[in-house]
Amino acid sequence: MGGERGRVSLAGRPPSPHVAPAPSFPRVARSRAVEVFADVEQPVDDLLSFAESALRQQRTGLGADADPSRPAYAIYLCRELETIRALEERHGWPRSDPGPFRTFEFRGGFYPGSGMIALRCDPGDDMRWDIAHELAHAVFEEVVGQDCDAINEGLAEYSTARLLARGQGPFRLDGLAAAVERNELPSLQRFFGLSYWEFRDERAHGRNFDLSWLLVRVLLEDDAAGIAGRFPRLLENLRALEPWAALRRTYDVALLEDAWKRRAEVASRWIPVYGEWSQGDGTLEVTLREPGFALLVQRQSPYMNEAFSIRTRPTGLEAGSEVGFVVGFESKEHYVALVLRPSTSSLVVTWRTGGHWDSPTSVPVRCFPRDWESAELELACDAQGEIELSCGRRVLARHALGPAAFHGRPGLFVDPWGASGERHAVFEQTESGLASPLDAPVLLGDGPDRDR
Ligand SMILES: [Zn+2]
Repeated sequence: MGGERGRVSLAGRPPSPHVAPAPSFPRVARSRAVEVFADVEQPVDDLLSFAESALRQQRTGLGADADPSRPAYAIYLCRELETIRALEERHGWPRSDPGPFRTFEFRGGFYPGSGMIALRCDPGDDMRWDIAHELAHAVFEEVVGQDCDAINEGLAEYSTARLLARGQGPFRLDGLAAAVERNELPSLQRFFGLSYWEFRDERAHGRNFDLSWLLVRVLLEDDAAGIAGRFPRLLENLRALEPWAALRRTYDVALLEDAWKRRAEVASRWIPVYGEWSQGDGTLEVTLREPGFALLVQRQSPYMNEAFSIRTRPTGLEAGSEVGFVVGFESKEHYVALVLRPSTSSLVVTWRTGGHWDSPTSVPVRCFPRDWESAELELACDAQGEIELSCGRRVLARHALGPAAFHGRPGLFVDPWGASGERHAVFEQTESGLASPLDAPVLLGDGPDRDR
């Protein structure tokens, strides 16, 4: 999420005269607080009530009252980017796209100071996440009267996930994991100093959105003395001071930076590949909105010829689901999946090579355990690359992969069965036998600040 969405930069560009013809929006729903316009098949009445309740809840979350004299927010759902460009031109704003500094796809956003949200969408797209995200920016502007990506983007994701009863993210994490691996997390001060374009630079792979989401989770969830309970004070300070000064006025920033970097390290130990994964206290939970499997890999790769293992306890999987592991994950095109298939009482080993599946090897499991969907699963790989898969501490199958087992990251695989709609899977008590970087604290904290 994130990189493509968000507020639109209007900085430093004078308004141009109003010339564009009015785009037409055949679908309209209005209330005192919100107006929804769509030129594409969208349930505008439902979205209007959703937007009203999002506004209410987000204001409550930030301790703000609705100002009855405030004009309604106008939300435009547009099939074509050209329509958003026409709206910009009509309102005298500079054209957002193309632009000289743009490295990321433009999909619209909230226009600060204007009460307008314009979003690109297709017929039938579920636009609730995007609408709630942009309204969160609007409420942030109401409350503090200025912008601050470092807080605003994460707060928009945080409040939207809560509003839609989804797990807390971030859900993407690959850019963040790369930064943690290279010890390249920015200092908090540098993070607060990123420009609009730097924050959204495609080359960061969404890292700054993830870092903002994690910072907001620290600000709202951390119970450490010096952090807990101070968020309302931060909002108060943001009304009077620029963001970095407001942060320093509210917190011991060294303490805050430490908590934030630690959270970034922990959050990026597992990197989602497919599926929307949410993490907390050793529990990994995935939601799939479309048919397919989910995949999550560890940030760390094993050393060549060094044994490793992963243990986990899946819960609540329905009969017909398949669950297992991957090893040697180098990319979406190269890895090996080892999956328990109850329907054939076997362990299926399949190589993903160059974007194709090789013909699977089926390793029979003589006594397929009845409680496979809730027993502890363990993958153990020895120094020669022989894989042993156990369920409830009983070995089910062995398969020799050789050096390929060490060529990339290990991870979890699940294809949860569900009759229709969303499908879920939960993995509890997940532990890995790879050394944790927290055992080697040189990665974080006390070293020289390499940020430039
Ligand atoms: Zn945003």
